[in-house]
Amino acid sequence: MTQVQTARGPIDAADLGRTLMHEHIFVLTADVQQNHDEWDEQARIDDAVSKLTALKEAGYGSIVDPTVIGLGRYIPRIEKIAAQVDLNIIVATGVYTYDTAPFYFKYRGPIPGIAPDLPDPMLGMFIRDITEGIPGTNVKAAFLKCAIDHQGMTTDVERIMRNVARAHRQTGAPITVHTHPGSKQGLEAHRVLSAEGVDPGRVVLGHSGDSQDADHLSELADLGYILGFDRFGIDVEASVEDRVKVAVELVRRGYADRMVLSHDAACYIDWIEPMLLPANPNWHYLHIENDVLPAFREQGVTDEQIDQMLVTNPRRYFENVGAY
Ligand SMILES: [Zn+2]
Repeated sequence: MTQVQTARGPIDAADLGRTLMHEHIFVLTADVQQNHDEWDEQARIDDAVSKLTALKEAGYGSIVDPTVIGLGRYIPRIEKIAAQVDLNIIVATGVYTYDTAPFYFKYRGPIPGIAPDLPDPMLGMFIRDITEGIPGTNVKAAFLKCAIDHQGMTTDVERIMRNVARAHRQTGAPITVHTHPGSKQGLEAHRVLSAEGVDPGRVVLGHSGDSQDADHLSELADLGYILGFDRFGIDVEASVEDRVKVAVELVRRGYADRMVLSHDAACYIDWIEPMLLPANPNWHYLHIENDVLPAFREQGVTDEQIDQMLVTNPRRYFENVGAY
């Protein structure tokens, strides 16, 4: 029996149930929100409780929330929501950027030419969140998150990814990487993660399903990575039909044992003008259940394969947590 840390405390990994492997509750620009009158704390909490309760009622047991520094992570609020819903919320540690790290880190840690031997405070934060807990809460992070986008492996993206890899090897907590498969950044992530000795089977390459290139995705799966088909509902980047088609193709090629599903949705994201959100009407926690799974079944994906992607693979990801 392996324990998984959630926002309501540790649970047995066997009890995760159907798990959406990449969903946010809130994506916020914290210092803008603090200087702006858009946010209504109670209304946003109530909205999240109702959306997460609906997900539970649809038969799901857990969401994996990769909201970290750079995405407005604030776990005291998540803890409050978790206490009001019968759904496991698994939270992350890490830093999210496509180019430069937050200025907090700029002159802390190793500074080339000035203080090259200083320890990197990022690594300490990541390990603390996993082993001791997230300050101001009773919650521990259960996985690590970093990002690489079309800008490629910038100096800071590499710094963050190497610290994520080191925290992973010291704690065993698995990794999720936001990738940009259109520019094959999964291979760049592989270059750095493999240099750090990371086992690809411990890593989800997020947003793989944004690409329609089944050969490229097969190449990443053959390296051992878990592929995130985790943006169902972001129709402006790829239609539902295209997202279903490439996922079904990967299942047909025999990769269901290394595929996970999700929407990358949020109850509230402040990155987008609210009047534009109707352009993505399927971008919510229930689109997979309501629309994607029926399309999968119609195209020959079995219930056993669906269970593999929604239950077995997430469980394996959170059970495979030995340090090395
Ligand atoms: Zn995300």
